[in-house]
Amino acid sequence: MEETIGFCTKLLHGSGAERYAQREILPPISQVTAFSYESMEELEKVFAHKSMGYAYTRIGNPTLSAFEEKINRLEGGMGAVSCSSGMSAIVSALLAICESGDEIIAGRGLYGGSINLFHDLEKLGIHTRFAERLDRETIERLANERTRAVFGELISNPSLTVIDLQEASEGAHAAGVPLLVDSTTATPYLANPLQMGADIVIHSTSKYINGGGNSIGGIIVDSGKFPWDFEKFTALSEFKKYGRMAFLLRLRADIWENMGGCMAPMNAFLSFIGADTLGLRMERICENADALAKALDGEDDITVNYLTLPGHPCHAYVEKQLRGYGGGILTFRAGSKERAFRIINHLKYALIASNIGDMRTLVIHPASTLYVHTGKEGTEAAGVFEDTIRVSVGIEDQEDLVADFLGAVRASREE
Ligand code: PLP
Repeated sequence: MEETIGFCTKLLHGSGAERYAQREILPPISQVTAFSYESMEELEKVFAHKSMGYAYTRIGNPTLSAFEEKINRLEGGMGAVSCSSGMSAIVSALLAICESGDEIIAGRGLYGGSINLFHDLEKLGIHTRFAERLDRETIERLANERTRAVFGELISNPSLTVIDLQEASEGAHAAGVPLLVDSTTATPYLANPLQMGADIVIHSTSKYINGGGNSIGGIIVDSGKFPWDFEKFTALSEFKKYGRMAFLLRLRADIWENMGGCMAPMNAFLSFIGADTLGLRMERICENADALAKALDGEDDITVNYLTLPGHPCHAYVEKQLRGYGGGILTFRAGSKERAFRIINHLKYALIASNIGDMRTLVIHPASTLYVHTGKEGTEAAGVFEDTIRVSVGIEDQEDLVADFLGAVRASREE
């Protein structure tokens, strides 16, 4: 059944009802801190991993497990760990692998928070080398005996460069390290990176997976296929006996548990039910984004960045890796910061908000907000300039969205 069913069917069937105590159609919300047992002997067995059970929500909770299983199944992984935010997921995954003195190779054009995180990791002795592109040759050039991971965003937010998963995974594997992919903007609907060579996939579930803009969260899914060399990955050496499951165990039993990065049970529930419509939303969002990008591209004095536009440098990956879609984010350059602000302020349906992946269209001027602490070089490397507007396209009616944006662009000329 797994191989043949479609994405939306898989979203709704096969993980759930039959396992919940009262056959609820959705996972019950275990909004609790701790779980009680009839005897001390039973709780002792749970702590000793001799019997299955939950003890304390920071270590595990059934609502979190339901959400983890759902996303793991969508990505085709061996196991998943949900986290309090996307950033918590990224840092937990990296710290499960890297120690002081180690190095990471990261693609450029990353989300500003991730760039800032790599700066923070420097202070812990973990150095990042940024690659213009995560192709095999560049990875091989930057890799050395201290390299422990290659990290990139499948569709980078907001520069919209796409990782060639085959090239990047070959490069990472030639260097003997795993490829970690932040697939937040692609979502499991557009791509399953674990099926295309990546070893670990990460999502900020705050975005498209939740879709309703109601809870922060993140998730890490492990393919369980990376052959860890325990002489080299000393961070994992205590978990050597688990072989290819060592990363997942190190993550869950050490880093995630000890850093206290668990997702809140209510957020797991909200993200679980939000994800039920992921396929429908992504189809509509991508169709809207395509129409909006093409309409804006017809205006002479703005420059549009969207993957399905024929001249886009990563256009080929739309068919090759993204199910024929370009995703939900587009950016355009308005000519000046002042005009960018005028356009944004004129929009009726796009909310001015610092988020992506909501079912409502959201818009922002990234240079003065998300990248305000990043520095000019990092900001421009992320595809953000003084006149850039980022649009996270929603599911509104296409005609309304296109008319709203074209109206704002045209009005901004007259003012
Ligand atoms: N990764 C990407 C691509 C993002 O766009 C974001 C947030 O915008 C994050 C990670 C961080 O996610 P969170 O805000 O859930 O921590």
